Amino acid sequence: MIVLLDELDARATLDATICIIGAGAAGITLACELDGSGFNVLLLEAGGTRLDVAASDELYRGTAAAPHPNPSEYRRVVFGGTTGTWGGRCVPFDPIDFEKRDYVAGSGWPISYSDIARYYPRAMKYCDAGEFDFSVGNSLKHGSSNALRSGAPLPTIPGLDDESVVLADRIERYSLPTDFGKRYRAQVARSPNVTALLNARCVALHSSRGEERVESVTIVNRAGNRRRVKSKVFILAVGGIEAVRLLMQSDADGPGLGNHSDHLGRYYACHFENTLGRLVVERGEPAFDFEKTYDGVYCRRKLQFSAEAQRRHRLLNSAFRLHFPSYSDASHGSPVLSAIYLAKSTLIREHRAILQHGSEAAVQSPVSEHLRNVARGLPTVGHFAFQWLFQRQLATRKLPYTLVKNRDGSYPLEFNSEQTPQASSRITLTDELDRDGLKRVNVDWRVSEEDAQSAQRAFLLLRDVLHQHSWCRLQIDEAGLLSTIRRSVPLGGHHMGTARMATTPRDGVVNRNSAVFEMPNLFIASSAVFCTNSHANPTLTIVAFALRLAEHLKATLHTAASVDEIESLPG
Ligand SMILES: Cc1cc2nc3c(=O)[nH]c(=O)nc-3n(C[C@H](O)[C@H](O)[C@H](O)COP(=O)(O)OP(=O)(O)OC[C@H]3O[C@@H](n4cnc5c(N)ncnc54)[C@H](O)[C@@H]3O)c2cc1C
Repeated sequence: MIVLLDELDARATLDATICIIGAGAAGITLACELDGSGFNVLLLEAGGTRLDVAASDELYRGTAAAPHPNPSEYRRVVFGGTTGTWGGRCVPFDPIDFEKRDYVAGSGWPISYSDIARYYPRAMKYCDAGEFDFSVGNSLKHGSSNALRSGAPLPTIPGLDDESVVLADRIERYSLPTDFGKRYRAQVARSPNVTALLNARCVALHSSRGEERVESVTIVNRAGNRRRVKSKVFILAVGGIEAVRLLMQSDADGPGLGNHSDHLGRYYACHFENTLGRLVVERGEPAFDFEKTYDGVYCRRKLQFSAEAQRRHRLLNSAFRLHFPSYSDASHGSPVLSAIYLAKSTLIREHRAILQHGSEAAVQSPVSEHLRNVARGLPTVGHFAFQWLFQRQLATRKLPYTLVKNRDGSYPLEFNSEQTPQASSRITLTDELDRDGLKRVNVDWRVSEEDAQSAQRAFLLLRDVLHQHSWCRLQIDEAGLLSTIRRSVPLGGHHMGTARMATTPRDGVVNRNSAVFEMPNLFIASSAVFCTNSHANPTLTIVAFALRLAEHLKATLHTAASVDEIESLPG
């Protein structure tokens, strides 16, 4: 059932067994998994079914040190959360991401890759991203869009086969992109045991019994009317920034719920990205364009270092993609890139920001030069517009974005990387209050010197491997490499690490089951719990963790003779 809080009878009691706070990728996955479980589930969502941009901005606005965007950007208050605008790139974490690596401070999870890997196939289904198969060999075999006549896929980089340092057989798959609010609304609406309460913003968690258990939460509707919701179990599924805000706000006189050892809000990571260098192909053609896998999903190739090479060269986990010239620099001569650049004012602001950042040559050519490019290539722009209409606007499975090759046949490299967990990279609360009396957040995101130096080593290693083993050359300005990397930007929608998973409360905020230490009926379902952050976009893993948590809750709540017993169940 889906109900608006504003329309709910003021006398109705709000009492649940499981209360999920936030209906984004994590919250909706949990609700769908608990549908039919017999538990009385309440899904509280601050937004409605339609995005109200001004209201979303008002609730999320805060401050941030550049180059991090304001926290009102790259997040959405609406049923479906930020999946209403995400790009849909689905990439799983790698086994090495869960390992303790002596060269990455703070690495090592209390769980292993296999603990989460078994949820990935189902998470792929939730994201409509096809099979859990990320190899070129399998995914691009017969029936895919780009197989050679022999059935074998085109090589990613000519000559770079069977290389043990750089893996050229990896792809990333793309979701439709699935808006979880639209896709799973009907299931939630007809669920016999799940009630979604919209325009119901949680503003405080209330604990009792010496703060060992959350008893209730306060919710507020758009008119400012407050109600209490009681539940046996609470799950914070409000994203990696908002979880910190609610936990801190709910302990006004203390350090924040779950903040036993000053970890809450720290280790904030986003992935850092840049576009650097020029890959020159001397023989053959690399696989540049989007392809379709045998199961009909858009995918793209990427280059990545093997786990062994990462350990040997002390590298953070990162990925490289062949890119296209900066949109804003009209010397690319592409009528399509110029047309996209000129259209940017009509795009949503995050996509506008993507057009403007991340390039080594962030030249902003005058509009007249872009107009000249467009005028010279009107038929090409017309053809592109036609394709864009059918492949992007009207298609259910959308072409993720437009790729245009450089005129001179070279390719800039898009790079994104894991970040070293860093205590000084953090979310804090300011003294400014929003309309519901919640303190606004300040974001202090940092790229560490370890991050920058790892990225520098990665570029130089890639250059050497390509030189030895392929028919490509990577040209980089070696002298300026480190300073360019230091100017990298955060991947705006990735908010990770702020409530780390750990073995003991000394080292983090949640235990291996995502329960807040010493508060066993409060769980966190979001990328906040990530100990380290891989190079992989977070949503597929957020969904996998939500599936794992749903399974844990179903098993423990069914076994516990009374729900009070969950406190004594293994954490
Ligand atoms: C432009 C863009 C592109 C992206 N591209 C990708 C991509 O290609 N691949 C990828 O993996 N990720 C991508 N992301 C990130 C992706 O959108 C997030 O990782 C994902 O949505 C996070 O899911 P979540 O459930 O944790 O949070 P959200 O989806 O943000 O959901 C949180 C929900 O909680 C609600 N809420 C917040 N506070 C409260 C409160 N106090 N009370 C009640 N409800 C509350 C919100 O309204 C929202 O519905 C992108 C993001 C953006 C903005």
